[in-house]
Parts: sequence; structure tokens; C-alpha cells
Amino acid sequence: MTVLVRPQALESFKPREFQMLIDGRWTNGAEGRIIERKSPAHGTVVSRYQAATKADAEQAIRAARHAFDKGPWPRMKGAERSNILLKAADLIASRAEELAFLDCIESGKPISQARAELAGAVDIWRYAAALGRDLHGESYNTLGEGTLGVVLREAIGVISIITPWNFPFLIVSQKLPFALAAGCTAVVKPSELTSGSTLVLGEILMEAGVPSGVINIVVGTGPDVGAPMTTHPDVDMVSFTGSTTVGKLTMANAAQTLKKVSLELGGKNPQIVFPDANLDEFIDAAVFGAYFNAGECCNAGSRLIVHKSVAQDVVSRIAELSKKVRVGDPLDPKTQVGAIITPEHLAKIDHYVRGAAGDGADIAHGGAPLDLGSGQFMAPTILSKVKSDMAVAREEVFGPVLSVLTFDTIENAIDIANSIDYGLSAGVWSRDMDTCLQVGRGVRAGTVWMNTFMDGASELPFGGYRQSGLGRELGRHAVEDYTETKTLNIHMGPRTA
Ligand code: NAD
Repeated sequence: MTVLVRPQALESFKPREFQMLIDGRWTNGAEGRIIERKSPAHGTVVSRYQAATKADAEQAIRAARHAFDKGPWPRMKGAERSNILLKAADLIASRAEELAFLDCIESGKPISQARAELAGAVDIWRYAAALGRDLHGESYNTLGEGTLGVVLREAIGVISIITPWNFPFLIVSQKLPFALAAGCTAVVKPSELTSGSTLVLGEILMEAGVPSGVINIVVGTGPDVGAPMTTHPDVDMVSFTGSTTVGKLTMANAAQTLKKVSLELGGKNPQIVFPDANLDEFIDAAVFGAYFNAGECCNAGSRLIVHKSVAQDVVSRIAELSKKVRVGDPLDPKTQVGAIITPEHLAKIDHYVRGAAGDGADIAHGGAPLDLGSGQFMAPTILSKVKSDMAVAREEVFGPVLSVLTFDTIENAIDIANSIDYGLSAGVWSRDMDTCLQVGRGVRAGTVWMNTFMDGASELPFGGYRQSGLGRELGRHAVEDYTETKTLNIHMGPRTA
């Protein structure tokens, strides 16, 4: 039996009212429309945001443009910007509980997990602040007598930052501090489902000393607000995280004025397990990788590719452990799997599971939505006997659903792993390092974990191969991504040739 925890009513909770941030001022939308967000677990309204219009988005872009072209931010010493970002990191840390609570009630993720994401975000802001002091170019004094070549890294300009609902604070933190450290200005559009923590970040950045216009935050739907942010000629770069479908649209829009794009998109990540692996550790990691954030995670380990000699054992042990997973009220610190983001998304997950069962997969555990009295929840689900041509094995389900496939040779495992359009991350489990390295080199994915899964660090670049994205976030080059390269070709003395 899966352990179920009924959501407690948010009785004394008063919904938070948010305005948007344009040019250093908190304002209402031009049409005065409100977007209401209900807690996906409790079913009650928890946040009200001012809905931006296209005109609001354009005003925010103009403010960011002016702040970049005429304002102090890009002209400051790197150390000064870095100190402001460090102050912001301290303020985020001091308001972490408030931010984690907002992410929890707006997205339905467990509070323990939201707290861990906030701790990770603080570390990223500090890391970006440090990198901002070390942004440098190159010089060449070997180009001939009287010639000096200097290669500069200059802030690229105005960045449109568009983020999804599944890691609201963490994902904006993978983009914004690096853009700011480079000297860029930004317009940020969080998902209209989970905008609260990003709006609080706006308050924090103003308090930390980021000048007016450098950071603008508008809330609204993709077509109303996101799309103009990808086409506007005053925007120099779009940094987008979301679905592959909208990522492609974003790239096509940005191409109209040849903006740089950075895309962090979907994943359908394989975990390949060999018979000599430490199966106890693997079973724990497989359950965590599949159900973390209710599977609403680009990095979810949603495809297990198991050697056929251990497949039956692996499926029954994962099913056994899945029974102990606590599903329910995200505000309960012991909850491991929270609510599903919207009723429509739950219906989509359910549709995938039914489709797989219809195509011949076995439901080894779970398999249906759960009625906990309010909100929407999905039972942790294991599908065995999945074939690599089934939709559930190829497409992002984005729910707590694990598909189990089998292999017989290492080449066969790598081929199955590479047989889909995504290439975000992968895991390999074996006590033999040769096997791990062979798979690590053979799988086309931006991150390959070996005998672990989903660990991360601010120092390690993250991003996808193929249709999982373009570019990398985090790591020591993350600030450079928000720069242009300029060559100064300098001639000294009389020019004879
Ligand atoms: P989504 O693509 O529907 O929306 C993402 C953002 O884009 C939202 O802010 C949305 O309002 C906006 N948007 C929608 N239509 C737009 C348009 N026409 N123009 C501009 N903006 C538009 O994605 P989602 O459902 O919010 O998030 C889930 C997806 O995000 C999954 O596919 C997941 O894999 C992906 N994701 C990827 C990563 C990564 O790092 N690779 C991380 C988290 C989520």
C-alpha cells in the first residue's frame, strides 16, 4: 500500500497578492486582469498575480533596454556587481522559508524538497557572484610587429528569461545571476502557474541594490507575454526552459531578429543497470529518480533499461519499495510525492498509463490517479514489459511513472538509450568502471551519472543533447554565455602595409 497523507485545509491562509515589477516600480497590468493560482494539493486559491499584457511586456523590455544602454549596471566594476549578487544570496537565504513555502503551495512539490531547492539556489547565486569577478578575455602579442589583438567579453544586452512551473525558484536561479554577473539586464517571465517566488526575488534584488530597470518581472501566459519577449527587436538573447515544443517555437521566433537562444528542454532519461551493480543502492536511486517532484522533472529517470537476467528481481524490488512512498500533503515534511500541477496534466499522465497498458505493458504498481479529498494526485506507477517503440518509452510523461525495458548486451543497452529524440541525462549502474565508461561515452546525453543519480553542483554544466536543448547552464562558462566576443585589432606606430 502506498502511504497516503490527506492534505490539511489551508484555512487561516490568506492568498498573497502580487504586482509586477517594471523599471523599479511595482505596478498592475494594463488591463487590470488577475491570474489566480490554486494550490494543486489543497484546491484553494493561494496567489493572485497581476496579468501582464503584450504592452506591459514591451514596456518591461524598453526599461531593460534603457538600463542596459544608459544605466550604471553594465558599466560597474565586476566586483561591485558581484557584491550586490552576494547580498542578494544572503537575502534569499534569509527568506528561504517564505520562498520554499510559496513554491510548495503553488506547485504542489513537497516542502522538504522545496527547502533543498532553495539551499541549492543560494549556492548558485554565490557561485555566479564569484564568476562575475573573473570574467575576462584574451590578448595576443604574437600577431606581428606593432600589432596587438585584444579579445573582449562584453555583456550581450537585454535577456528574456522564460521559465517553467516545475522548479520555480531553482530555474530562474540557473539563469538570472549569471546574466546579471555578466552585466546584462533582463525581463523575466515565470510560469503563470508558479510566479510567486520569482516576484519575491524581484523584491530581494531591489533591496540588494540592483538598479531600476535592470530586472523586470512580468506574469502571464506564453502567447500573451512570452511570445513578444522572443520576437521583440530590443531583446538580444532568449534564455528559455520548458517543453521541447515551445522551445522550437521560441527558436523560430528568435530567428526573426537572429537573437541568441539558450534552450533547456524535455528529457526521457534512461537508467541502465547491469547485473553486477549494487542493486540495493540502485533500487533506492531508481525510486527516487522516478518519483522525485512527482516525476514532473526534466531529469526524471523515467526509463529503466535493465539487464534481462535481473529484470524480474528489479521490478519486484522497486514495486515493494514504491509501497512505502508517502504521497500526499506537500506541506507535511514527511511527504515524498506531492500533487500534480493541474487536473489537465493529471489526465494526460493517466492517458499515457492506460495507453501503455493497452499496448501490452504490465502495471507492476500503482497505475491510476488517487483521490485524497482535494487537489490532484497520481499513484507512483511502475510499468514493466515496456517496448522501446511504445509512446510511454519515447515521450515525456512528466508524472510519477516508471517504464521498465530490458537489454541483453551493452551495445543493445546503448542503442535503446539513444533510440529517442531526447538526450538530457542518463544513469549507468555497474561495479565495473569499464562498463560505466563505455556507456558514459556511448550515450548521447548532457549528463551521465555513474552509480548515482540526479546529484548536481553549481560547478557542473547542465543541458541537453539533441532535442533536449541548446547550450549549457551552470559551470564556469555560464557567465560567458551571456556575453558577446569583441576583437580589438590594434595597430601601433606607422602603418606601412
Ligand atoms: P512550457 O513549454 O509549456 O512552458 C514553459 C514557459 O514557456 C512558461 O513560462 C510558459 O508560459 C512559456 N510559454 C508557453 N508558450 C509560449 C510561447 N508561445 N512563447 C513564449 N513562451 C511560452 O513548459 P512547462 O509545462 O511550464 O514545463 C515543463 C517542461 O519544461 C517539460 O518539458 C520539462 O522537461 C521542461 N523542463 C526542462 C528543464 C531543463 O533544464 N532541461 C528543466 C525544467 C523543465
